[in-house]
Amino acid sequence: METIVVKTGEGQAGEQAVLRAGQIIRRGGLVAFPTETVYGLGGDACNPGSARRIYAAKGRPSDNPLIVHICRWEDIYKIADPVPEAAHKLAEAFWPGPLTIILKKTDFVPMETTGGLDTVAVRFPADRTALALIEAAGGFVAAPSANVSGRPSPTLARYVQEDMDGRIEMILDGGEVGIGLESTIVDLTGEKPMILRPGFVTKEMLEEVLGRVDVDKTILDKNSRLRPKAPGMRYRHYAPKGELTIVEGEAGTAARAICQKSREAKRAGEKVGIIATQETKALYLAQSMADSIKSVGNRSDEAAVGRSLYRILREFDDEGMTVIFSESFSDSGFGQAIMNRLFKAAGHRVEMV
Ligand code: AMP
Ligand code: MG
Repeated sequence: METIVVKTGEGQAGEQAVLRAGQIIRRGGLVAFPTETVYGLGGDACNPGSARRIYAAKGRPSDNPLIVHICRWEDIYKIADPVPEAAHKLAEAFWPGPLTIILKKTDFVPMETTGGLDTVAVRFPADRTALALIEAAGGFVAAPSANVSGRPSPTLARYVQEDMDGRIEMILDGGEVGIGLESTIVDLTGEKPMILRPGFVTKEMLEEVLGRVDVDKTILDKNSRLRPKAPGMRYRHYAPKGELTIVEGEAGTAARAICQKSREAKRAGEKVGIIATQETKALYLAQSMADSIKSVGNRSDEAAVGRSLYRILREFDDEGMTVIFSESFSDSGFGQAIMNRLFKAAGHRVEMV
């Protein structure tokens, strides 16, 4: 199959491309599209065959449910029942935006889309291309991230192409995404709201709207012995090809330890990459002997760190790094999402110094 890549942007050509993409999805095809978080791989959420094709294209286990994307609040009533007061409050505060809500599903949503669960994940994204596509596709687009299972989620259309070329009908190229990490997932089907996956909408933000919110205990568990509640969080995700180790400790101490580990790895014949910050980059350049040193930005600028993390992991893959070291970051606010993805990418390899 030939995968067509079309730039969206302003103007008629972009609009035409989105309408065509909508047609492809209505007919059971697959289209990758930008959202404010990461690129999604979209199919018709009401078509069981589309869900099967998404699983096949990603090489993803079919018990790992997809997120149903909508473009109008009232469409939630078709796919979820009941729609509790808490969902209204969250939608009011954060939709359209990077938040996914788990609710009991209706029969309108096939079991293939929800990986056999009787619940459905619903998201109302803010990205304009995403909204136009959902509308053109009939209102309900099932989409996980547009990467091959086990690779970092794509933040650029180029990375979607790397993973999906020849497997899907079309890629809508909307440039680099804004947030760079997947949506926050909050489960409203239990007694208390619970965060299953941290994201740009933080625990503190959710608590301002809902009062107390629990966090699935496995999210920041460094040993990962517990079983996460979101099926997708159970798999080793976001994994670079090189072996990534997080070095945790006071910033200066950690940076010096990384220099030493990097030199040892170089002597052992490894190709070494370092995830640095603006504050430590010069030290690594002078002392680490690493092959590639990439800064995620200022340590205090969480938005920048979140946006560049997956891109850097993919660049290290392209450059053939066999060993990667990263500093660790604050795990409060959006930092919780950053550290959650970093732990997973590292297969929970953390060294304290
Ligand atoms: P992705 O956008 O690729 O990260 O995939 C969707 C994520 O949403 C996966 O981690 C799924 O496990 C999670 N998810 C989707 N539906 C549900 C659901 N009904 N209950 C819990 N988690 C879900
Ligand atoms: Mg994913």
